[in-house]
Amino acid sequence: MSERPPEIVCAACGAETLVRREAVYDGFKRVGERFVCVSCGHAYAAEAEVPFKAAKRTAVFSEADRTRSADVFAADEKGRNCRHCRHYVVNPFTQRCGLHLRRVEATDACGDFEPPPAADEPPQTAESSPPPPR
Ligand SMILES: [Zn+2]
Repeated sequence: MSERPPEIVCAACGAETLVRREAVYDGFKRVGERFVCVSCGHAYAAEAEVPFKAAKRTAVFSEADRTRSADVFAADEKGRNCRHCRHYVVNPFTQRCGLHLRRVEATDACGDFEPPPAADEPPQTAESSPPPPR
């Protein structure tokens, strides 16, 4: 496992380059670490001396802004799609528009879009059966 080496602007050679972290040993005992420029080999004795390159600024537009405007657009589109229209007829083989009598796609948008009947509209009642014969 190696992490990406940090970027520096080397104080010794002036290059925009990377710095390598090296452990410093006294015999077999680790006594510290130093930071070495990969371009010129200049060693910095402490992390505080390393001229790290400034981190890049993040994007101006946040993800949250983008997502919100996309949702508004999607909601508007959904309102006029054929599959939300009262004339939309679907069966196992095809999707049809009952008004224009032609095949449609669920995602089609139509100028004659009409919203489906409200749920609280009274349901169609069956024809009252004729009086039983005497
Ligand atoms: Zn250097």
